[in-house]
This record gives sequence, C-alpha cells and structure tokens, in this order.
Amino acid sequence: NKQILLAKRPEGMPDQATFQMTEKEITQPENGEILIRTLYVSVDPYMRGRMIDAPSYVAPYKLNEVIGGGAIGEVITSESSSFNEGDIVIGGFGWQTYYTAKEDEVRKIDKEIAPISTHLGILGMTGLTAYFGLLEIGKPKEGETVVISGAAGAVGSVVGQIAKVKGAKVVGIAGTDEKIKYLKEELHFDEAINYKTTENMEKALAEACPNGVDVYFDNVGGEISDAVFTLLNKFARVSVCGAISSYNLETKDIGPRVQSLLIKKSALMQGFTVGDFKDRFNEGTVALAKWLQEGKLTYEETIKEGFENIPDAFLDLFKGNNIGKLLVKVAEP
Ligand code: NDP
Repeated sequence: NKQILLAKRPEGMPDQATFQMTEKEITQPENGEILIRTLYVSVDPYMRGRMIDAPSYVAPYKLNEVIGGGAIGEVITSESSSFNEGDIVIGGFGWQTYYTAKEDEVRKIDKEIAPISTHLGILGMTGLTAYFGLLEIGKPKEGETVVISGAAGAVGSVVGQIAKVKGAKVVGIAGTDEKIKYLKEELHFDEAINYKTTENMEKALAEACPNGVDVYFDNVGGEISDAVFTLLNKFARVSVCGAISSYNLETKDIGPRVQSLLIKKSALMQGFTVGDFKDRFNEGTVALAKWLQEGKLTYEETIKEGFENIPDAFLDLFKGNNIGKLLVKVAEP
C-alpha cells in the first residue's frame, strides 16, 4: 500500500519536500470492513489550509500521517453485508493506493448517471459548493450581472453555468488565454478577463460590466477582488468561497478596507463552507445531475495519471495548471 504523508508543514508555497512517499502492508478487512483499491484522488486548494497547525473548519493534517481528502475506489474485498466486490465507493481516504474502511466511512456511488470521476467534481463537493454558494448567498436574478473569480476552475466553472441557467449576465476572471477561450466558447460566459495579462483590472471589469456587479462569487480574494468591489451595485451580494491568492503568503495580506463600500451599497458579503449545507446535499446533487443530463451544465476535468504525481498535481492548483476539476487517476476501474 503506497501512501503519501505530510513530511513537514509548509511555510509559503509547498513543494516536494512537504510530502513523503512510503509503503506499508495492506490491512486485510475484518468483520464490517471493506478493502478499497483507489482509482481517483482529488487535489483541492483547501488542503493547503490543513497543512498548517491552526484551528479551522477541518482538522489539520498530522505530521507523518496520510494526507486525507476526497477519493474514489473499487471494493476488492468485502466483509460487510452493505458492500459487494466491484462496488464503486467515495470517501475521505485520500492519498493512498489501498484503504481498509469501516462500512460507515464510505458510500456507494451510482456508476450509471455520469463517469465516476464526476462525483469528486461537478456531482461532488465542488459542484455542491458552487450550487449552494451561488444560490443561497449570491441569489442571482434574471438580468443581473454575476462576476466570478477563479472562473475556469472546478467551482468557478460550475458557478458560471448555474448563473446562466438563472438568466444572469456572467463575467469570468481567469489566468490564461486558453481558459478565457474555454469560458467564452464552451461555457458561453458573456465576458471573460485574463487577470494576468490585463493591466488595469478595474477598467476592464467596468467595460465588461456596464451595469455594475450584482453578485460576486469570490474564489481568490486579493487584488482581483479589490477591483471587483469597486463596481458593486446597490444591494449586491458577495459570496466568499475561497481566497487562494493568500493561501501561500508568508505575511498577512492587507488590502483596501471594504466596509465603506459595503455600507454605501447596502451590500452583503458572506463567507461559507459547503458543509454548512450538508443537510441539503441530496437536493443539490439531484439538481446538478438533472442539469447535467439536460445539457444545461457541462464540465471539464484535468486528469493527471499516476499515484506518485499527486503532490505535483496539488502544486499545479497554485500554478493555475488546471481547467475544471483537477484529479489524479491512480488505477483503472
Ligand atoms: P480550482 O479548480 O479553481 O483551482 C485553483 C485555481 O485557482 C487555479 O487553476 C488558478 O487559476 C487559480 N489561482 C491559483 N493561484 C491564484 C492566485 N494567486 N490568484 C488568483 N487565482 C489563483 O480550485 P477549486 O475550484 O477546487 O477551488 C476554488 C476556490 O474555492 C479555492 O479558493 C478553494 O479554497 C475554494 N473552495 C471553497 C469551498 C468552501 O466550502 N468554501 C469548497 C471548495 C473550494 P488561474 O489560472 O485562473 O489563476
């Protein structure tokens, strides 16, 4: 059983030395347990937060322990009456090639509705984050302008498409021309701006949003968000999902204070974690699956192959090397 452990807590940008590859005997399942062979592993920006020893909404990783996170696997031995060999399951068992799970630690996924990998993306946590963060906090109305940062990523790409379903005008911000093309041509965003090649973001945004910004779905924080805030309309809603631009900073990020902007515009700014909506995950998954089947949603995955490439894939998130959901394929189903 190959495993990737947290070798040391990163300061600033993590690198290969943050992780350690190791190999252990597979633990055979006992009564009520199953042995899972990992097929897909998810790499997510929030994992960076778990690498430091600070209280948060998920417990920090322990040093020299397996990096936990969303993963999909196949049951290869079952000592549980709830699972059969060949079942595909999802859980938080993370960066290891095999895992012996108690039966309540994982759940079966439906192989029929869409490729199994989508349960780590559009039909999983990232899709649900987009769904609840946009609809419960952003609450876009027909004809309103919705701006999304990190727009070509796993969460952002779903947010924009849901906003289109709701009849909004959608403006995306992302970091490569390929992503800008993807947003406009594949996802039919109304406008898309490359923040890396645009000198004056405020001006570019003002041009893209002549009616101002009613909803801002923020995945990145920092200077990009500072520019968007200046365009908020009266009663605008800001859904604060992520702040990836600050995750690897060694000193605190201080930007313009937003209070007076929020006051002037009677705007609402609210952070959330997808777990806030856990009682409604089923509703969200059903809605996302329906839109997917109706062709109202589409998705992209960037899939890296090979267990040993998981750390690299994780680091790719901070280099912007992904369109849509970034996953690692560990084994063939
Ligand atoms: P993405 O698929 O969006 O991948 C990360 C992307 O962020 C990169 O591709 C890159 O795209 C962009 N990025 C990286 N560094 C920077 C930077 N310094 N400034 C601006 N953009 C940057 O990841 P996810 O969709 O999984 O997550 C998106 C955000 O949502 C993250 O902030 C994450 O923490 C948050 N999140 C929050 C959840 C919640 O419950 N609140 C749940 C899930 C995710 P580019 O080329 O455009 O720079």
